[in-house]
Amino acid sequence: MSTPIIVFDHLEELDSESKYLVHKAKEATAHAYAPYSKFHVGAALVLDDGTIVTGANQENASYPLCMCAERVALYSAAATHPGKKILKLAVAAHKKNHKELSSATCCGSCRQVLHEVEMNQNNPIEIIMYTADKKWVKSTSSALLPLGFTKESMEL
Ligand SMILES: [Zn+2]
Repeated sequence: MSTPIIVFDHLEELDSESKYLVHKAKEATAHAYAPYSKFHVGAALVLDDGTIVTGANQENASYPLCMCAERVALYSAAATHPGKKILKLAVAAHKKNHKELSSATCCGSCRQVLHEVEMNQNNPIEIIMYTADKKWVKSTSSALLPLGFTKESMEL
């Protein structure tokens, strides 16, 4: 299920669906609750029926309770569209009052959750992210989390 990591110099080089998902992820940053980090993250995913589900990071004064945009979108999709496969997920971020995008690659926790969703649905999830060196990356959670921990790891 592993797919190589594909790097693009410009957003325009991505396919139209990916660009649209990045656009929706950017829009979703408006719903971030980020009074502490001031780092507004949005995620947008598309389901196999074409439905788009978005999420935005949600922070809390008790920092460990914060939730990433990707997991907000993933859990929302699971709760509101059970049984649908997730085909693709894009992430976008910016600092408060900044128009230009900041790098936002999925954290390890989100990669772990993405990996399990991908395994459960037996279908890869394409992930689109913007890296610190200002490149766009397209890959899958399996490629982003090699040797990931799975439920099979506990079945001895
Ligand atoms: Zn995360």
